[in-house]
Amino acid sequence: MGLLENKDDLMELVDKLNFEQKVNRSLALIKEAYGKYGDRLVVANSLGKDSMAVWDLAKKVSPKIRGFIVTTRFKPKETIQFMKEMVARYPELSVYKNDEEIPDKLYEIVPDKCCYMLKVLPTRQAIEEMNVECWVTGLRCTEGRTRTDFREVEERDKGLIKLNPILIWKEREVWEYLALNGVRVNPLYAQGYRSLGCEPCTKITSEEDERAGRWVGTSKCGGECGIHTRPLKVNIDGDGI
Ligand code: SF4
Repeated sequence: MGLLENKDDLMELVDKLNFEQKVNRSLALIKEAYGKYGDRLVVANSLGKDSMAVWDLAKKVSPKIRGFIVTTRFKPKETIQFMKEMVARYPELSVYKNDEEIPDKLYEIVPDKCCYMLKVLPTRQAIEEMNVECWVTGLRCTEGRTRTDFREVEERDKGLIKLNPILIWKEREVWEYLALNGVRVNPLYAQGYRSLGCEPCTKITSEEDERAGRWVGTSKCGGECGIHTRPLKVNIDGDGI
């Protein structure tokens, strides 16, 4: 049985495996999936620290692996600048953005709808246009309350595999990997952010939960934008929010 079919107790592995073992497991997962899906394996790069680690791991498996970035009109200027530098360095990264008109301050009124329009829809578009069969993410099960029940390999949408190769990494192990491999990160981390998103919905906090600074003051606080929870295949339409 390959690693892609593993039934391991992931919460146990979070503490049981050391840093080197986790890196090797992540590389093996990406390598096996790339062997299986080839060019239809694509990395979703949010430009956050976890995505940067996954992107670097994927590039070690094959420099040819493609990726996509979903950006929005509300991303901080530092993130936009960082994105431009990344795309210039890696032309195999495609950028998706929804410029459709939306109501003013939708992020305050109905943040779920705003995320659906600006994040979920362009992600669906990327998956469709790039002919993706397996998308690779930087999800980690220790990031916060909404991320504890994911698996390393999932098929939430029929016909679309999601690979979460650093699922069992701790926050400090991500930083360890980035430092040891000389991977550049978004300069906003130097200001104290631990999880990056759109400007109006991201705050610096000292809470234990890594995603506590996301959507502060709304029912979505510490939650999800929807790309990991909503259907992504365009033939399976969601409920519109
Ligand atoms: S993070 Fe905020 S601004 Fe960005 S898409 Fe979601 S609700 Fe809108």
